[in-house]
Amino acid sequence: MRDLDRLRLLEAAVEQSFNAVVITTSHLDRPGPEIVYVNQAFVDLTGYDREELIGATPRILQGPMTNVRTLARMRRALENGEPFEGQTVNYRKDRSAYHVEWNIAPVRDEHGRVAHFVSVQRDITDRIQQRQDRELLSTALEESADNVLITDVDGHIVYVNRAFEEHTGYDREEVLGKNPRILNSGAHDAGFYRRLWDTLGRGEAFRETFVDRDKRGERFYMEQTITPVTDDRGRIVRYVSTGKDITERVEMEQELERMATTDRLTGAMNRLRFEDVLEQEMERARRYRRTLSLIMFDVDEFKQVNDRFGHDAGDAVLERLAAVVGDNLRASDQMARWGGEEFMVLSPEADLEAACEIAEKLRAELERADFPGVGRVTASFGVSEMRPEDTPKRLLKRADNALYEAKESGRNRVCPAPPAA
Ligand code: GH3
Ligand code: MG
Ligand code: MG
Repeated sequence: MRDLDRLRLLEAAVEQSFNAVVITTSHLDRPGPEIVYVNQAFVDLTGYDREELIGATPRILQGPMTNVRTLARMRRALENGEPFEGQTVNYRKDRSAYHVEWNIAPVRDEHGRVAHFVSVQRDITDRIQQRQDRELLSTALEESADNVLITDVDGHIVYVNRAFEEHTGYDREEVLGKNPRILNSGAHDAGFYRRLWDTLGRGEAFRETFVDRDKRGERFYMEQTITPVTDDRGRIVRYVSTGKDITERVEMEQELERMATTDRLTGAMNRLRFEDVLEQEMERARRYRRTLSLIMFDVDEFKQVNDRFGHDAGDAVLERLAAVVGDNLRASDQMARWGGEEFMVLSPEADLEAACEIAEKLRAELERADFPGVGRVTASFGVSEMRPEDTPKRLLKRADNALYEAKESGRNRVCPAPPAA
């Protein structure tokens, strides 16, 4: 190929290049090198006309944010006849700024002297912007007050933020590569995890309160959102889990719930709660075709205790009585303070005879118990067994009638409600 043809081909190639190309003289001193050639991409990049550029110096591209130290490094390299690569901020004709990455190489003439510099430039504003966005996001993640944990698709932890470390007591290095199940408290059943994976598998976010365990084994409650992250082909590549600690709120709610359902003096269930329990247990007994019995008891001559020993002593008796009864119940039996000096015991699965035996045991234990400062205290018991068509009210009424009978027939005794209405 003739030299001239070769040159034309090369010029056509450079002219069409996506990268901006500029060729200057090698004159480094003021007013700087002179532009002898620019391609179309360079015209597009800088916003200058070709005519404005030819004969000008590339220094017209510089501005306030152009890094003078980078320029100094470039100058040193070029003075030594070496190529250079760098990044800086340049300015278009309209003075708008762009990030540019460029390399520049000295080209020698036939005498071996550097005659020209050839520079190839690329606008990297988008790339820099994306990097800054990414850095911003990762800083936000790292500094977030919420716990952040990211796993790969196999469930290996690839990231935890600072809040996670502080919260769980685990250092980042300890948990990277591990499965988040190190936090499992055992509080969730298999159904919980099935729902979790079903939801994530559909590509949806899973939101739930998690009961977790920290490094020391302490339980905490997290309001957690786990979100699957997909790649551009829709395949799940990461799971991002963010959570807020709500332990304080949950414990406060539990305490309020406990206060609302417990009798303060005796620690037994209160009447409100017992009414719920009674309804639930009767429903359950009906569903499983089991029986259930209700024991109702009332302290005998309690007025006299108050009158002789004072109200506080009366309170102490109720406290002790509840403790004695509680100690003598089966785990499945539930005791409540119905009001005043009247109590209930609900005995699931016990028929009338079995429940009377339980009541008799309680009666005997109370009779035997010592009540400090007061001496002997007894109670009377009424027992009723549930019938399939019973309402709570009717079951209660029969126990109440039986209790009345126990009082009438001399107190300190157990009376069963007759099986027929
Ligand atoms: P009976 O054998 O017929 O049940 O006689 P009683 O004296 O126990 O019956 P009554 O229902 O007339 O009296 C119950 C008394 O229990 C009235 C009340 O002063 C007392 N009492 C109710 N609740 C409390 C309480 O919380 N603390 C104390 N100290 N006394 C209570
Ligand atoms: Mg009484
Ligand atoms: Mg009473």
